[in-house]
Amino acid sequence: MSDNKMQRYSVIPDKNPREIVLLRGTGCKWRRCRFCDYHLDFSADETANFELNQKVLSQVTGIFHKLEVINSGSFCDLDEKTMNRILQTCREKEISQIHFECHWRDRENIPALRSRFSAAGISTRIKIGIETFDSLFRESYLDKGIDEKNPAVIAENFNECCLLQGLPGQTEESMKRDIETGLAHFERVCVNIMGRNSRPVLPDPGVIRIFFDKVRPCYEKNPRVDILMNNTDFGVGGDIHE
Ligand code: SF4
Repeated sequence: MSDNKMQRYSVIPDKNPREIVLLRGTGCKWRRCRFCDYHLDFSADETANFELNQKVLSQVTGIFHKLEVINSGSFCDLDEKTMNRILQTCREKEISQIHFECHWRDRENIPALRSRFSAAGISTRIKIGIETFDSLFRESYLDKGIDEKNPAVIAENFNECCLLQGLPGQTEESMKRDIETGLAHFERVCVNIMGRNSRPVLPDPGVIRIFFDKVRPCYEKNPRVDILMNNTDFGVGGDIHE
């Protein structure tokens, strides 16, 4: 794809105000989720990734002293020079809180990351894509790669979670139950509404309508809940195939 089509820097002004950057790494190692083509945003060329990432990071101003870093896969799929540049950016722009994403299978890398940023006086928030706490649905239909059913155990290493809604079979009750479970075990919940992409899992328009009419009104003012009706609502991303 042409990288010109991807927006990689944005500011999220409300609900936990922060800047956000979409960086590029060597890519998600799992790559099996049946709903995801985000993992196509990668390059094996670490030099090219760093060149891109440092340009994106140069846009960070520190306006809210919080920065969210996302990339397809986990933070540990970013090259070391990029990680150093993130740390340098935090110091220069007085970022006091940083958010990263991490897949369940990479969780053993989290303590070292927390220590590294903590040593610089920066608190770390780690977000995991869980999609749903219905583990049978999650693993048999979505193939998410989380071999743990207990939300409390999953939450031991993570601060925030992402949920995926608007999928066939979901109901008002199941979507609310997932959000409530997320709020019970995590500091913040990000609800992503399924959009059409190149992968086999399709959005269900009827379920999305139920979400919009019955679920969204209950949580849209909750400061701990982000809702992305489109996956570019944070101002980063784009069509991976353009
Ligand atoms: S959702 Fe995340 S873990 Fe799953 S394939 Fe996409 S990038 Fe990888």
